Amino acid sequence: MKWQGRKRSSNVEDRRGRTTRRTGRNLGLGSIVIVILALLFGADPAALLNLVGGDTGPVTNVQTSEPDPSEAPLKEFVDVVLQDTEDVWHKVFREQLGREYVEPTLVVFDEQVQSVCGYASAASGPFYCPGDSKVYIDLDFYRQLNSFFKAPGDFPMAYVIAHEVGHHVQNLLGISGEVARQRGRISQEEYNQLSVRLELQADFLAGVWVHHAEKMKQILEAGDIEEALRAASAIGDDHIQKRTRGYVVPESFTHGTSEQRMRWLTKGIRSGNLNDGDTFGSSSL
Ligand SMILES: [Zn+2]
Repeated sequence: MKWQGRKRSSNVEDRRGRTTRRTGRNLGLGSIVIVILALLFGADPAALLNLVGGDTGPVTNVQTSEPDPSEAPLKEFVDVVLQDTEDVWHKVFREQLGREYVEPTLVVFDEQVQSVCGYASAASGPFYCPGDSKVYIDLDFYRQLNSFFKAPGDFPMAYVIAHEVGHHVQNLLGISGEVARQRGRISQEEYNQLSVRLELQADFLAGVWVHHAEKMKQILEAGDIEEALRAASAIGDDHIQKRTRGYVVPESFTHGTSEQRMRWLTKGIRSGNLNDGDTFGSSSL
């Protein structure tokens, strides 16, 4: 992908080198005495503990190290791709939906991160949290795509970011909210099927981004599309399950098979039109 020296998004929040600590209230001997006294005299122990100080918030962020300078080009790459998603989605929202696009924040982290959606470790991979409209990505996932998923090159990482931004688009359009409301109302198996449709649509939206980014900025280099397809194939549920368990359980799929992911991504790249991405109305996925 051609990305060097281009405009970078200002919506990237850098949380690298910060350790998130869950600091439940530390009940020392003094606090325990206060609680006992409070209970004896009928006062509210929590109020008294707040009066004597101590941790009031459940989570603190401590800067423990500076970001690794060798990650600077990768950080720049992420900033540029996010900018490209903003430019494309502003245009597509205006032209195809007649409404304004609201930009998400992208949080770059390492090791672990706290979001409104919960506490996540780098091992869980990139994700989007609808509750705070933020995309969370660990830069080391770039290396994982290259080594574990055997998807080399820079474009797989761009596809992954575009897929997560696709979830943000679904959030803005109320699609992910609709799916979330079904949780608990339908069987787990049926819910997994909805989840697959949501994921395949995010792949389609990643493709829509490629389509328009190429038209607007000519970002593609030879082999980029193949790189993205290889990544989509590598992170298909069937492929991951085969690698991790050695067998495939289709009912438990939540992201779609390698073939489905590649097909919907390709459809988005060719079409660029949101009307072609109704994975929920489509009887064959
Ligand atoms: Zn996804």
